[in-house]
Amino acid sequence: MKDLEISFTVENFSLDNTLNSSYASYLFKKIETSEGTCWVGITKPILNVKMIQLGNELKFQFESDIDDDIFDYLYLHVTGLWIDFEPSFLRGLDVKCLETVERLIQLFPGVRVPWLYLNKWHILISTIFSIHARVEMSKAWFASLVNLNPELLGTMDPLELRSLTENSTGVSAGFRARYLIETVHELFNGTHKEDPLEEICRLPISEARIELCKIRNLGPKVCDCFLLNGLGDLTSAPIDIHVGRVSEYLGILPPSLGQPYAGLCRKFVCVPSKVNSRIQLCPRAERTLDYLEDSQDPSGTCLRAALTNKFEYAGWIQALLFLFGQTYCVWTPRGIPHCDSCPLRDRCSRKETRGLTYQRIGERLPRITKTRVKTVGDSQLLRVFELFPELEKTVIDKANAILRDVEKLGFRSRVQKATSIWIACRSLGVPVLLKELAQSFSIRPKDILDATVALLEKTDIKFELARPDVYIERARRTLLLPESLGDLAVSISRRSGSLNPVSQAAAAVYLASTQIGQSVSQRAISKALGLSEVTVRNAISRINYRSSQPS
Ligand code: SF4
Ligand code: SF4
Repeated sequence: MKDLEISFTVENFSLDNTLNSSYASYLFKKIETSEGTCWVGITKPILNVKMIQLGNELKFQFESDIDDDIFDYLYLHVTGLWIDFEPSFLRGLDVKCLETVERLIQLFPGVRVPWLYLNKWHILISTIFSIHARVEMSKAWFASLVNLNPELLGTMDPLELRSLTENSTGVSAGFRARYLIETVHELFNGTHKEDPLEEICRLPISEARIELCKIRNLGPKVCDCFLLNGLGDLTSAPIDIHVGRVSEYLGILPPSLGQPYAGLCRKFVCVPSKVNSRIQLCPRAERTLDYLEDSQDPSGTCLRAALTNKFEYAGWIQALLFLFGQTYCVWTPRGIPHCDSCPLRDRCSRKETRGLTYQRIGERLPRITKTRVKTVGDSQLLRVFELFPELEKTVIDKANAILRDVEKLGFRSRVQKATSIWIACRSLGVPVLLKELAQSFSIRPKDILDATVALLEKTDIKFELARPDVYIERARRTLLLPESLGDLAVSISRRSGSLNPVSQAAAAVYLASTQIGQSVSQRAISKALGLSEVTVRNAISRINYRSSQPS
């Protein structure tokens, strides 16, 4: 049977720019043809549909007849044609910012924002796969399981999912596999309704954001990606360091704004118009509004609050900044952008901050140079803070104080931040695991250890020895064990056994659980403390063996 073909005339629209700037691109395979890029749907309800734009003509090809509702979804919402962005909404911007946005529009014309309401689970899965991953890689992982039922995903073993992604793409999705399974599992566990995601989506947007941010492993950026493309909420702007960097360099936003802070995103809204009797304005949003008025002190501010308060359609501005960051201002751990070929070089402030004018800025505005010190935010939120929320602020404050010393060592920024958190946690007795910390910052544990050694050699910072009791408390909270079991485990941990405090804690929790008849599996304990089951087993044997020796 011959394919069914439909075409439309479109204006001020670019299919490629729109899909490339959004999670809609995950739903398609891209095929380069002599006519242009052909986008072929890889999942329902747009499976095998082909889309291509030839000048002002947008062509669709279907293998069979298509339902009207699905066609409307495809034609209007997947393409982003459901909304046009009138230049009038940029009214009120200062001249410099307006000119820069107009130049961005010239560079990336016809960008719209897809609203993928029939593929919400796909958007959630793709956003989780995109955490600290290259776009091509996260797309490949997503494609490898695009047709799996979400409920089934929540029951999979992370190792199974890691193998699945590795077998299909050659590279494992790593920690994202666990994140994904835990998230889906948590969603289905929290409700008796058929589709927990739909249930959240029925809430008003601000409340939906708060509920999403409460889910373990979903940081503010992932939640905003979902709100923007899954719910079509144009005020939601996914923020990461790349968007922050580009918006600062191009003068879209004032300098040195902080990243969103997950602990606050779970409670507050970012714009005054969304405040209601149940939800208050975030303290960071208040600071940001002051800073937007008078750019003196950026401490305690937030990029998302700045973008959403400054732009009516912050999600669309973010799409332009994302495309610019991906195309021109590309920074990787190993390289810096090719500024020589940057079309917005004349508007970039980066050269000023590194060049001759730096000293003059410092003389004129001493407070700004002082606060340009990078701070440890929670963009790489650690799981330990979900278990110990009461310690989060203390750790971050201490880490920020230590960061100034670590920065002098000249390690990479991520290593500096992770190291400052590591030292802060260790000196405050917070049971963070080296592996999880390194993973959160996409670096190696060795990087943190090297920076720690270098710092301890040069400063008088005290680094406490880890104690098993704090890790026992971590396991207790993770596994929801009673306090009495924790107390017993602490007393067992004082017996002679493993020299590694984390292994000793794991063994003590296991022995305490068997003593009080509340059996907890070695597997669960090993997961809670980031150890292998073999390590836990050996640590248990060590305590048992030494206890059986005559003193
Ligand atoms: S202002 Fe920032 S930290 Fe506060 S709720 Fe909004 S995004 Fe989160
Ligand atoms: S000049 Fe360089 S640093 Fe500045 S925006 Fe362009 S690519 Fe980025």
